[in-house]
Amino acid sequence: MSNILVVGSLAYDDVQTPAEHRTNVLGGAASYFAIAARLYAPVRLVGVIGDDFREEDVERLRSRGIDLAGLERRSGGSFRWLGRYDYAMNTAETINTDLGVFADWQPRVPDSFADSEFVFLANIDPEIQLATLRRVRAPKAVALDTMNYWIDHKRDALLEVISHVDIVSVNESEARQLCDTVSVAKAARDILARGPRAVVVKRGEYGSVLFTRSFSFWSPAFPFDEVTDPTGAGDSFAGGFLGHLAATGTVDDRALRRATLHGTVCASFAVERFSVDGIEAATPDDVATRYRLLQDLVKV
Ligand code: AMP
Repeated sequence: MSNILVVGSLAYDDVQTPAEHRTNVLGGAASYFAIAARLYAPVRLVGVIGDDFREEDVERLRSRGIDLAGLERRSGGSFRWLGRYDYAMNTAETINTDLGVFADWQPRVPDSFADSEFVFLANIDPEIQLATLRRVRAPKAVALDTMNYWIDHKRDALLEVISHVDIVSVNESEARQLCDTVSVAKAARDILARGPRAVVVKRGEYGSVLFTRSFSFWSPAFPFDEVTDPTGAGDSFAGGFLGHLAATGTVDDRALRRATLHGTVCASFAVERFSVDGIEAATPDDVATRYRLLQDLVKV
């Protein structure tokens, strides 16, 4: 089994859905990813938190077996995100982003992480993503996720880091915005032309599509009557996706297809409850059960 290094945001979120409003809940791309990926393989985390970050939240990550040697605490505020969902629940509207201690932070990657085999550059400043990647000697596969905020603020740096990764994961609207096109298929082709070998486009309740140069694979979302909180669906998806690749140690076409279904399953646990509560409660057995149900759904 291979290990996975993740760098990305650790945050406190305020989340408004049509049904409920929660404040100050544990969030951040790296938190969701790590809590999902630890269901599959050992996870190492690189990130920064402020002095307002609760010790019990650090302990939640540590007690899930996540290696926190790359987690730094600095004086200042933690990353904070305020997002709202309307009835469609498919895309978040960002009301406010406060980078806090992430604003001028240079990642410190411990020497013991330099041999990481799989790397996830979770949603954060693309300059931080690139600086982290440079510290890893010979990764087998690197995946990247981003958000409209970074497409707006750091487009050139983002395109630079995209050219160094194997897999890009974006949602539908981000794909369109990044490539300035209304066609998701064309956006995927444009991203592939920049170097990556696979692009995963997430489409909320309509599932996701895996594009490579030779095929595309469409996965439905896990069927649900009600979504509680879509926050972190994309990062948990990435956790299941890269987790499966790391668990098998392979990145061939079949592994990529199966990884897409594992991503879908992890996202389904994340959206069932607020914050990281849903994905945190999931066990490998729960994952296996939903994976079989999803596999039956895509069979013809
Ligand atoms: P997702 O719903 O999977 O796209 O990710 C949601 C998480 O991303 C939330 O928990 C936020 O704290 C975090 N987040 C929101 N905006 C940003 C940003 N601009 N950079 C890094 N992380 C962010």
